[in-house]
Amino acid sequence: MDLGLEGKVALVTGAGRGIGLAVARELGREGCRVAALDLSRGALGELVGSWSYGELLPLAADVADSSQVEGAVGNVLDRWSRVDILVNNAGIYLVKPLSEMREEEWDRVVAVNLKGVFNCCRSVLPAMKKARWGRIINASSFAAKIPALGACAYAASKAGVLAFSRVLAGEVGPYNITVNCYIPGTIATEMTAGARAEWGDSLLGTLALRRWGEPEDVARAVLFLASEAAGYITGASLEISGGKLVVQNPWAAYEDL
Ligand code: NAP
Repeated sequence: MDLGLEGKVALVTGAGRGIGLAVARELGREGCRVAALDLSRGALGELVGSWSYGELLPLAADVADSSQVEGAVGNVLDRWSRVDILVNNAGIYLVKPLSEMREEEWDRVVAVNLKGVFNCCRSVLPAMKKARWGRIINASSFAAKIPALGACAYAASKAGVLAFSRVLAGEVGPYNITVNCYIPGTIATEMTAGARAEWGDSLLGTLALRRWGEPEDVARAVLFLASEAAGYITGASLEISGGKLVVQNPWAAYEDL
């Protein structure tokens, strides 16, 4: 299927590793010009060092800081005069019971995961509105639906992303801009390394497909949401979880194997 992504300009946040790295590569492979943003240039070393597609613009910025985001988006517009696709992927995870959580920890999780999405959307929207075309694709989480213990800040921020995305989809629909979310389950990245090591088989037992997701599993779903083929999908969320808790006891299906 031709995804119609050739020549599009895509901005991907948190592109240094994990899902963001895979998304940036997949968009590059499809012919996009890719602006890859992470906290530092150093964090983008793996992506830059292995890039074998078209144009790539590495950007250092903290998505929680509106002036840094404005500057980064300004660089993209200076270079290519447009932003067609925004993938708000940057995120941080924190597991800590509320009774132990410091105010600044709560603030930081919400600032990166939720306000970061606001900052990036606000910065790219004038260009997308002018072009009367845009795709905004935001990272939510399975935690927004069924959170893990200790994830109150993270789950709240990711549930906020779902609600934010629906409101924005309504606001920018008249400009032919779609806004959707992807909901990863348990993908094998640094973010989930601790949980996978600690919970291992019991966590795998919650998945109908009984394997960890790979960043590329998510990246391919993001490609679809960015494509012309997804032009009538907005305000939606797509779960990429290997069938996490699709039934109450997915592990039981494996007992006779
Ligand atoms: P990851 O491996 O931890 O990678 C996150 C990337 O975001 C890192 O490159 C990190 O940079 C960057 N980043 C963090 N804070 C940033 C900031 N303030 N500004 C710019 N970049 C920042 O995470 P992942 O597993 O790929 O997850 C990607 C997204 O999917 C996140 O939003 C996450 O919440 C969501 N998600 C993932 C899973 C999963 O199973 N992996 C499940 C549900 C949701 P540094 O390396 O410099 O810190």
